[in-house]
Amino acid sequence: MSELPLLARKLDEADELASLRDRFVLDDVVYLDGNSLGALPAHVPDRVADVVRRQWGELRIRSWEESGWWTAPERIGDRIAPLVGAAPGQIVVGDSTSVNVFKAVVAAIRMADAGRDELLVDATTFPTDGYIAESAARLTGRTLRPVTPAEVPGALGERTAAVLLNHVDYRTGRLHDLPALTAAVHAAGALAVWDLCHSAGALPVGLDEHGVDLAVGCTYKYLNGGPGSPAYLYVRKGLQDRFDSPLPGWNSHAEPFGMSASYAPAPGAVRGRVGTPDILSLLALEAALDVWDGVSVAVVRAKSLALTDFFLRCVAEYTEPGRVECVTPERHTERGSQIALRCPDAGEVMKRLISRGVVGDFRHPDVLRFGFTPLYVGFRDVERAARVLAEELA
Ligand SMILES: *Cc1c(COP(=O)(O)O)cnc(C)c1O
Repeated sequence: MSELPLLARKLDEADELASLRDRFVLDDVVYLDGNSLGALPAHVPDRVADVVRRQWGELRIRSWEESGWWTAPERIGDRIAPLVGAAPGQIVVGDSTSVNVFKAVVAAIRMADAGRDELLVDATTFPTDGYIAESAARLTGRTLRPVTPAEVPGALGERTAAVLLNHVDYRTGRLHDLPALTAAVHAAGALAVWDLCHSAGALPVGLDEHGVDLAVGCTYKYLNGGPGSPAYLYVRKGLQDRFDSPLPGWNSHAEPFGMSASYAPAPGAVRGRVGTPDILSLLALEAALDVWDGVSVAVVRAKSLALTDFFLRCVAEYTEPGRVECVTPERHTERGSQIALRCPDAGEVMKRLISRGVVGDFRHPDVLRFGFTPLYVGFRDVERAARVLAEELA
């Protein structure tokens, strides 16, 4: 008889974040896909209903001012800021991650010295970042050079304009060394652009502390903003005056209601805006961020590592040796908040897991992905997931 179920109960009892689970709508499935779509915070439906019925239905046009719609992108950016280690005034919310990657990479190239003709991109990146980087390079007359994050220090040089990297790899869950890589990029005189999709809300990022130049991220993964909730763009304070947006829509104008024929960029983070924000999604996100009140990202990170450690231990004990291969690094300094296991029949295995109430996801061609959201995943969930997995693999 394994001691792991008992241990799981003890770990849950000692978990200071355990009560946060009640802030979410969850049934009795084990939800390990919060790295793809975060769960619904329980208070969000009523807040969204108020936005629709009262703010839109009754106040109508007045809500742009009276309900704070116009300033929502920068206001909500300031709510995300402490979660990624940024002082206020540097983050604006809106558009998708893909669009923000475009803004950030083109703006970074425009800020770099004109003679620098290379854009480095993570060769293992989530595909959209790679596609956008290729287009950005073509548009700005630079050469795109795909390299793995480990190859970045050796690839940097006088030709490097900017580097686009992922903080955590979406497939393997590998955490890259943001402080060291940012420092290396700066030592080469280039700009560092980070994609935080798989780290924000799961671990400390420290954007200001590590001098990151530009960053983007989505809000529907660990930030639980809802399907298609808008992404964000961070531009370091010291660079904001030089941020030359490739999408200078009227919302980023210094006087948007001046309706001037000529463009003059707004100061600060507002310069990263484009057009009219999608208010319904934006305000659902704003409500969802309330679950973070009083929550320390350091505590979230400690629990995240404990969850993934415990999952690996349960898998090792329950699963026949050699049946799966873990592609997520063992070392804490190299691990995000997910575990990726490879096995040849991963697609079929994941279908069976989901039918048994253990929801992870499958990534082509052979990866089982399990995301651990410390706000609502507990240790008994982890033990159950590993047990069901072992049964389906047997
Ligand atoms: C999830 C994710 C995206 C998603 O981009 P969208 O424009 O929101 O569809 C982009 N990059 C990375 C690294 C991701 O993990």
